Amino acid sequence: MKTNQNPILSFLLLLLILSGVFYFMMPQKYDTTEASLAEFSTKRALEKVKTISQKPHFVGSKNHEVIAQYLVNELKNLGLSPTIQEGFTLSDGGTLVKSKNIVAKIKGNSSNKALLLLSHYDSAPHSFSPGASDDASGVATILESVRAFLYNKTQHKNDILILFSDAEELGLNGAALFVTQHQLAKEVGLVLNFEARGSSGPSYMLMETNKGNANMVKAFIDGKADYPVSNSLMYSIYKMLPNDTDLTVFRESGKIQGFNFAFIDNHFNYHTEKDNFENLNPNTLAHQGSYLFPLLNHFANADLSNLDSDDDDVYFNIPLAFVSYPFSWIVPMLIIGFVLVFTFVFIGFGKHVLRIDEVLKGFIPLLLSLIVAGGITYIGWRLLLEFYPQYQDILHKFTYNGHDYIYAFVSLSIAICFLFYQNSGKRNSEMNQFFAPLFLWLLLNIGIAIYLKGAAFLIIPVISSALMLGIYVLTQKSNWLINCILAIPTLIIIAPFIQMFPIGLGLQLLFGSAILTVLAFGLLVPVFGSFSKKVIWSAVFFLLSIGLFVKAHQTSDYTAERPKPNSLVYLHDANTNKSYWTTYDKNLDEWTKGYLGENPKEASALNTNKLYSKYGSQFTFMNDTPNKNIATPTIEFLRDTLQGNQRLYSIKITPNRAVNRYDVFNANNAKLHNLVANGAKAIDFKSNISGSNSGKILSYYIVDNEPLILNFSISKNDKLDLNLVESSFDLLSNPQFTVTKRKDWMISTPFVLNNAIVIRQKIKPTPVLEDNPKPQLYRRNVASRDSLSVRNDSLR
Ligand SMILES: [Zn+2]
Repeated sequence: MKTNQNPILSFLLLLLILSGVFYFMMPQKYDTTEASLAEFSTKRALEKVKTISQKPHFVGSKNHEVIAQYLVNELKNLGLSPTIQEGFTLSDGGTLVKSKNIVAKIKGNSSNKALLLLSHYDSAPHSFSPGASDDASGVATILESVRAFLYNKTQHKNDILILFSDAEELGLNGAALFVTQHQLAKEVGLVLNFEARGSSGPSYMLMETNKGNANMVKAFIDGKADYPVSNSLMYSIYKMLPNDTDLTVFRESGKIQGFNFAFIDNHFNYHTEKDNFENLNPNTLAHQGSYLFPLLNHFANADLSNLDSDDDDVYFNIPLAFVSYPFSWIVPMLIIGFVLVFTFVFIGFGKHVLRIDEVLKGFIPLLLSLIVAGGITYIGWRLLLEFYPQYQDILHKFTYNGHDYIYAFVSLSIAICFLFYQNSGKRNSEMNQFFAPLFLWLLLNIGIAIYLKGAAFLIIPVISSALMLGIYVLTQKSNWLINCILAIPTLIIIAPFIQMFPIGLGLQLLFGSAILTVLAFGLLVPVFGSFSKKVIWSAVFFLLSIGLFVKAHQTSDYTAERPKPNSLVYLHDANTNKSYWTTYDKNLDEWTKGYLGENPKEASALNTNKLYSKYGSQFTFMNDTPNKNIATPTIEFLRDTLQGNQRLYSIKITPNRAVNRYDVFNANNAKLHNLVANGAKAIDFKSNISGSNSGKILSYYIVDNEPLILNFSISKNDKLDLNLVESSFDLLSNPQFTVTKRKDWMISTPFVLNNAIVIRQKIKPTPVLEDNPKPQLYRRNVASRDSLSVRNDSLR
């Protein structure tokens, strides 16, 4: 008998279902005409994004203050009375900054716990990011949702707090300031945080819970968001990313739980000039609004005091809905999977519709497909990096043509599957071959049930596909339509991960997509395996793959739409009185070569005091250049006394030019005790930011040129040996330099100190003030020192 007479129809039906899975993941349009004032309007939110993202507004920039004032006014326009919370914090990773939070409160009728709406308003420093997605999109989502909420005069029990936090990009400092020092922090029962790590794609809900998630999952479901996209495996993946959000601080320091809503696609735009209004996908912003507006209305009246739970749930989204079940179901479902698969196989043997030797042979095409597809993709991506060395310039590890490579390698993997799943002309050989993938999936699910319970929903496609085998062994017939219907769980649950892994974690994980493609193909063997002329199917997918590689090749160059990131720093070593041009780039271009020359030296000598960068980037090349007359900071030892077996220090570092950042390093292993910086106590350093053995004590991001005052002690047997790195972000605008503008096909490399004038020196007292080349600047600093005296008193 023929099992499948409709390969084309099967294929088209599966394609249609797959399109639906992605189509219904997020809104596909937004209101382009004037929407009702009673509703969230993406169009109105976009106008706010446009205003906020006109210019970079990183902490310490002029425009940062402009945006802060704009947001205060926006909240006032809503009839609220915003307040400013300002103060220094020294965060987990050693980031010191005076941040300025904007806080507003909408009083509820009988509040027990408050709902906090959170987004940060600072943009990333160093790389001229206008911060349209990150995080004007979040701020605008909140402003527009609150506007509609107030317009409707919604009655609500809970207080609603709005926090536009500051300095998220530097070290989550604004959130830390709020959680540790704001009196309202104690009232918060739940946080909704809006974030971005790209500029398009669906927004994923990522939960932050300290204990079990069961009540949080239930609360989220009760909120009835239109396009919920989340699953319990995603949170585990999220924790693997080198990203924290403000909500991490709430959870860790404040024991406050919450939901993040973050979009991550087109990661290459993140923290660059290209994080601009034009690149923010309006449908993505509509997705953020589609979360907040219903959730705000729900949580404004929900009980926020019982979100803690000891139980955990497995959860995942299906188109337009959300499914969850308790962890206690994991083992029973796994047992059901085993029982079904083995019962059907033994029935098949009994009825002689399956043969044990053919079933065992089924492992050959599966393992060959896994090894070849996974191996070719793994090696293939590395070869592509050799062939296109420019891909290394994109530190995000997701190139402009990254999506093409995902589809190309997935197509190639499918081609490989069709090639190895040739049947020898034997009747229904695909049903014999089907046991192998089902068995492998069952083994994987044993591992998941033990080590990665959040991924336990992956048993569902296995159970569904097992039914294809069941129907066949019981009826000796296989219906293409029923098989396609039973394939739906695989398409809904597994297919999105094939795309999400490399988007979320970088293209170096493309081989993961290839392996997952083969595993998904395995669950659909009764469908695809029954196709006749599989060589042709293989050839079609192979050609499709080639076409996609060609397409990727055609967009592998740099243009104004796909600009090359590059970096340039002027570095003066005050200890040796030498100056250098230096860069983080591996591939120099005509702009960087203009300063570094055609044959620059390796820059390892400059990497002794490693400045923090997200991906551990170091200076690559350097070139000598004449000294400029750059004012070095004034370093005063306000205190240097012996007390018992401790030597007590108070050191004041005052800039003598407009600067943005101080990094202080410990040049020997002397342990610093009781460090207090500008009145802020050090939190125990445990973050990976400080763990690079670079001896970094802190990074101080400077606002209004306010001096740095360090108080600490060391053992009297130790010798104090500190290094200071002073940076200003004005290399392109400083009148002492004539650095030309980047070409239109270049942007500043994100995540590294860039476009900066840097001075490195030992921290030694500067005894003679007359040496100071700019006495008028010094006088200004004297004035600011007076304004500091209040804080100084509180230090002592
Ligand atoms: Zn952000």
